[in-house]
Order: sequence, then structure tokens, then C-alpha cells
Amino acid sequence: MRLSGKRAIVTGAAHGIGRAAALRFAREGCRVLAADVDDAAGAALAVEAASAGLPLAFRHADVTNAAAVATLVAEAERRFGGLDTAFVNAGIEQVAADSDALAEEHWSRVLAVNLTGTFLTCQAAISAMLRAGGGAIVTNASVAAFANVGQNAAYAASKGGVMALTRVLAIEYAARNIRVNAVCAGVIDTAMNARHRDRAADPDAWMEAARAITPLGRLGTAEEVASLALFLASDEAAFITGTGMLVDGGRVAT
Ligand code: NAD
Repeated sequence: MRLSGKRAIVTGAAHGIGRAAALRFAREGCRVLAADVDDAAGAALAVEAASAGLPLAFRHADVTNAAAVATLVAEAERRFGGLDTAFVNAGIEQVAADSDALAEEHWSRVLAVNLTGTFLTCQAAISAMLRAGGGAIVTNASVAAFANVGQNAAYAASKGGVMALTRVLAIEYAARNIRVNAVCAGVIDTAMNARHRDRAADPDAWMEAARAITPLGRLGTAEEVASLALFLASDEAAFITGTGMLVDGGRVAT
């Protein structure tokens, strides 16, 4: 019960890392309001949580929409009597492309979800945490904030932005008892990477390359990233703020 008594929002919670984290947070005693744009998968998450007796509810929220994010946070405050924890996770991949062939609309969409969506969610969560007397935010950056990820200029720029934003918010709100940290994952076995693999000219070669760039020789799991998000959200990380922690199987160390 490492998040006993905590009250959280988790964005991008219908699949992958967000889903694993929402369930893990709830198992650790946190009341969770999970949000996503995929309502069917979100409803399935809520059913799974309810059947396990976990305190988790789902509601639709698109993180690119400031009003929707504000409504999500307001609902968490109404349901739970306040908000002190946020896993700001929602994100999309870039369709890999050489930068000279990257369409501006795609660049803008990746930045809108990954960076602006992270900012809007942090902004709304911080307002609620100030009312609650403090809290902990965990953003979802990537190894892309630290290392080259070929043919992914928009994704890397968005995640570098998330990392910089994480540092700025951490310093701005440190004296007001709000910690802000990022998880920075390597290649994780989620639908996002299944899409990358399926788009590759040679999916087997894509998978082999993903393993080859990872010293531990495999893709990580959503649960392994959720474990780090849990730690950073918990009071065990009370002296940690403004940092990005790698969960990458050793990739950046290479
Ligand atoms: P995923 O595609 O499996 O899940 C992402 C979730 O975000 C989906 O449920 C999707 O519906 C939701 N989402 C997308 N746009 C949204 C929006 N506008 N508003 C609300 N929800 C939205 O991906 P994942 O691998 O679980 O990735 C989760 C986060 O982790 C992302 O920010 C991603 O960039 C980051 N990340 C992933 C990896 C990886 O290897 N999978 C590595 C590093 C960082």
C-alpha cells in the first residue's frame, strides 16, 4: 500500500504503460481517476478494476483540450476531496520518417499530444495540488530526451520538451510542496511499439534491432515502467524532484 490515501489522475490510461500504472496505483491504495480518448478500452479497464475491487474509475479526456483536462481534474477533486498525485502519461508515436519528409501536420499533432497535452495536464493538476497543500507529478518522457532515436524528430523534440518542462515545473513549485519527475523509458512492449513494428518494412528486423540497442536484450514491460512511476509518485521519493529516471534496459548507458 505504497500510495495509501493518495488521490490520482492517470492520463492515457486505457492501454500500455498508463493502464499498467493506473492498476498498480490502485493496488497500492490510491484512488484513481483514469482518463483516455479510447472509451471502449477505458470502460474495459474500469470493469477489470471493479472486478478486482480496486478504487479506479474511468472518464473520457483528451489531453490536448484544456477544458477537458480541467474537467477531469475537477472531477477527481469532487470524487476524492482533492488531488495529490498525477501520472501525466498520454502520448502518441511519430510515424518514423526522415525529417525532410516529415509533414508539418504530423509534427504539430505529436507536439500537441505529447508536449502541450503534458503541459495542460500538469497545469490543471498543479492548481489542484496547490489547493491540496502539495503533491507529486510524474510525467512520461523517454530515452528520446537523452539519446538519438532515428527518424523521430517530432517525437524526440516532444520528449525533450517534456523533460525540460519537468525540470522547470519542479523548481517553480518545489517550495510549494509539489514534486515533478519524469520516467524515461526505452523500448517497451506496448501497442505503440507493435504499431512501429508492424509499419516496418521487415517487422522481424525491427524487433531484432530493438533488442540489439538494449543491453538487457529485450523490450521492457509496461509494468516495469509503472513500477518506476509508482516509486516517483510515492513518499519513498520525497527527496526527489526535477529529475528524469531511466527505465531503459541500459540503452542510454551505451
Ligand atoms: P500506447 O499507445 O500503448 O498507450 C497510449 C495511450 O494514450 C492510449 O491509451 C491512447 O489512447 C492514449 N492517448 C493518445 N492520445 C491521447 C490524448 N490526446 N488524450 C488522452 N489519451 C490519449 O503507448 P505506451 O507505449 O503505453 O506509451 C505511453 C507513454 O509512454 C507515451 O507518452 C509514450 O510516448 C511514452 N513512452 C513509451 C515508450 C515505449 O517504448 N512504449 C517509451 C518511452 C516513452
